[in-house]
Formats: sequence, structure tokens, C-alpha cells
Amino acid sequence: MSALTLLNPADGTVLRELPADDAVSVGAKIAAARAAQPAWAARPFAERRAILTRFRDLLIERKDTLALTTTAETGKPVRQARNEIAATPARVDFFLEHTAALLAPRLMHRQPDGGVPGAAALEEVVTFDPLGVIANISAWNYPWFVGTNVIVPALLCGNAVIYKPSEHATLTGLAIAGLLHEAGVPDDVFVPVIGAGETGAALLEHPLDGIFFTGSYATGVKVAAAAARHLAPVQLELGGKDAAYVTDEVDAAAVAGAVADGAFYNAGQSCCAVERVYVHADVYDAFVEAFVDAVKGFAIGAPTDEGTYIGPLCREPQLAVLQAQVDDALQKGATLRCGGRRADRGGWYFEPTVLTDVDHTMAVMRDESFGPIIGIEKVADDAEAVARMNDTPYGLTAAVYGRDRTRAARILERMNTGTVYWNCCDRVSPNLPWSGRGHSGVGATLSLEGIRAFLRPRAWHLRAP
Ligand code: NDP
Repeated sequence: MSALTLLNPADGTVLRELPADDAVSVGAKIAAARAAQPAWAARPFAERRAILTRFRDLLIERKDTLALTTTAETGKPVRQARNEIAATPARVDFFLEHTAALLAPRLMHRQPDGGVPGAAALEEVVTFDPLGVIANISAWNYPWFVGTNVIVPALLCGNAVIYKPSEHATLTGLAIAGLLHEAGVPDDVFVPVIGAGETGAALLEHPLDGIFFTGSYATGVKVAAAAARHLAPVQLELGGKDAAYVTDEVDAAAVAGAVADGAFYNAGQSCCAVERVYVHADVYDAFVEAFVDAVKGFAIGAPTDEGTYIGPLCREPQLAVLQAQVDDALQKGATLRCGGRRADRGGWYFEPTVLTDVDHTMAVMRDESFGPIIGIEKVADDAEAVARMNDTPYGLTAAVYGRDRTRAARILERMNTGTVYWNCCDRVSPNLPWSGRGHSGVGATLSLEGIRAFLRPRAWHLRAP
């Protein structure tokens, strides 16, 4: 086994050294999960539901301590880490409430026997089996959300889960495993696999019954290729370059704060963070002024401080990615309104940055930034806004701010995204499918679709003798 070194993004110091899994240990864990899964699936649903309910309760009880763990390894401000954990039980509740109905057999057709009243000569029935042993390879930015989106419905449906948290959220991943085991999920039914990208790649060398991945487009392509070798069903929740359009109908100054929050929360490290803003010419100046004021007011600081809104980036190499996007934009004629460089303090901090006079030749308007930087572009009308918003291979979310719902709907219908927002952004609900189009992914988590993803149908043709 090799070693994994975990660093604290707030100051670059070593948090912990842990042994990492390799191809041999991963193989042994999958074999154990394969042996354990049928008994888990055979347990009455009520037992699995009671165990996951206990997991939910433990999460609520331990919220404050768990938040400190996530903050230490990801750099997420502690208030935002607590918010994430506090919002996770609502997602678990959705799965607890809706899974039983989807597991129930469905009678689709019944052809009565003419001779015997009420008897069935032919029935066509669908039943639902778990997939079997699935892998969940997860991201670090919302480890509680993206982990439980997969883990909870997968377990409720009777699957065993091999879970590889991001190396940058390893301690959170181990905490999730600890809570599930304490709640009663057998050790071989929920199995953490620890390590960096190579460990994820080693996991995918093995035949699996489903692969559920959250992460970047670049890694998602590799995961899909690996899944194809074994024809494993694959679901990909990937990155985005999400756009917001501020129409001329709004008090631009009033919405600027909400859009800035959607862009800069978690230092912009959200899959659905607003990464591009298009503003109608009539309200452009007022919007930019209020937006820059809001961004300048964000408190940067140690992630453990209660008052901090912007903490460090989780990964040091992202500092260079952001600097390259800023430099590219400035070299092509953008105007820097605030920020623009690594913050003058220890740790991996980047100053919250706003660029205007941007266009689509610039990387900041095309490539996922995944950090506290944003470009704002002026547009003449809705048609120009639609063209700009759709000028991306990504397709996660799009937002329109305006008073007229019909006008907003006309714009949003034309977006090639899995989610659209009217007068809100950077929002996820367990009731609705979370899905990306294009480079933003394949399949859906959350909602009823996000439960069905962990089941496979069996068709029964039953003819009475
Ligand atoms: P990465 O793609 O870097 O990593 C995701 C996971 O894949 C990690 O566990 C990583 O391990 C692992 N991994 C890396 N290489 C391989 C490989 N060759 N085979 C198998 N697994 C591998 O993404 P991040 O963790 O940096 O997450 C940020 C990205 O995730 C952003 O693009 C963001 O938009 C997206 N995201 C999408 C969401 C959605 O719902 N659509 C939600 C949250 C994030 P390790 O980290 O240890 O290297």
C-alpha cells in the first residue's frame, strides 16, 4: 500500500498521512462486497430504511464536529460546511420516503381468462432488482451532498457500495463510512476505498454493476471509457460553466447580491456556481456597480472563523488556473474591477475577482473556473443573451432574472441545460432531477429518477396453466 498525504488548504501544513488502497486491496474489497450484497438485498426494506434513518439522525447529532473535519481538509468555511451537513438530512428524507414505492412490483397488464371469472390467464409484471455492487467515485467540493445523493438511494435499493471519496475529502469520506457502519450498514456492504486518482482508476479495472461518478469533465471521460470495457451502467455528474442573465426588468442593484452569492459561495467551487453573467445594457452599469460592491464586501479569512465567507481554494494547483484565466482576459482587453491575483496571506487563497469587458475569446468565459472569479458581459437583448448562454459545451444550469415569467420561460426553454432557474441560482432540491447535458454529464441524481438509477427492471410474462 502507498501513502496518502492530506494537506490543510488554509496553511499548506500536513493534516494526516494515511495508507492508500492499491489494485490488490481494492480487488479484495470488491470481492467481499460481492459476497455480502445478496444478504443486504434480501433484508426487508423496513430494516434498510431503519438503518439509513439512524444514519440521518447521527448526522444531525454530530453536525458541528463533522463540519470541522470537512473544513480542515477542504478549506470550506465552517459555517458553509455546517450548512451543507444540516441540509443533507432533507435529501436523505426524500429517499426514505419514496424508495419503497419504486421497489414495489408493478402489474402492467392482465388478460382475464374468459372461462373462469376473475382469474388471470396472462399477467405482465415488472419487478425491480438492485444493480448489485456499485462504485461511487466522488468529488470534494460538497462531499456530504454528492456522497449521500448516491450512497443513500443505492443502499436503500439493496446495493453494496464501494465508495472512493476524493483524496481532498478523505477524512469526510471516512466519517461518512463510520456513521453508516455505526447506524448498522455491514462493513462489507459500504466499503470506503482510500487514495488519489490512481486508486479510482484501479477500482474501475474491476467489473462493477454500476459506476456513479461526480467530478470534472476530463475525469468523467476517462471513467466512461473504463466503464465501457465492462459495459457497466455509468452515471456522470460533471462540471459546468453556468450562466445567469439579468434582464432590463429588474432592480439590478437588488439582484446583484444574490447573483454574487451564487457565484462566490464556497469560493466559487460549486458545480452550479454562476460562472458567467450577461446583463441587459439598460441595467448594466447599475448591476456592475452593485455586484462589485457586494464582492468587495465578502469576508476573506481562515475557514475556521465563523465570520469567513471566502476561504482558501481546496487545491493549490487551481491558483495557477485562475491566474491564467485572469491574465488571458486582461491581455485580450478585459477590465479588472477587483481582485485578480493570489491573496497576500498564507494558504491557497485567491482574491475574489470581477472582470468586465469580457468576450467569448477569453478562457474565463469558456472554461470552468471553479474558483472566486467571474466575467460580466453586456448584451443588447434576449436574443444575444440566449446566443451567449448557449455558447458552451457544458449544460448544467442557467438562470434568468426578471419580472415576466413568460418571457423568462421563453428564454429558459432554449437553454440546453438539465436545470433552469427563474430569479434564483446555485440551488439544488431533492424533489427535482439533478442532471447535466453535454459536457456536464449523463444520467440524473436526486428525485425519483435518482432512485430508479440504482435498480434494474425484470419483466415477468406469467401465463396460468
Ligand atoms: P476530479 O475529476 O478531479 O475528481 C473526481 C474524483 O475522481 C475524485 O475522487 C478523484 O480522485 C477521482 N479520479 C481522478 N482520476 C481518476 C481516474 N483516472 N479514474 C477514476 N477516478 C479518478 O474532480 P474534483 O474532485 O476536483 O471535483 C470538482 C469537479 O466536480 C468540478 O468540475 C465540479 O464542477 C464537478 N462537480 C459536479 C457536480 C455535479 O453534480 N454535476 C457536483 C460537484 C462537483 P482524487 O480527488 O483523489 O484525485
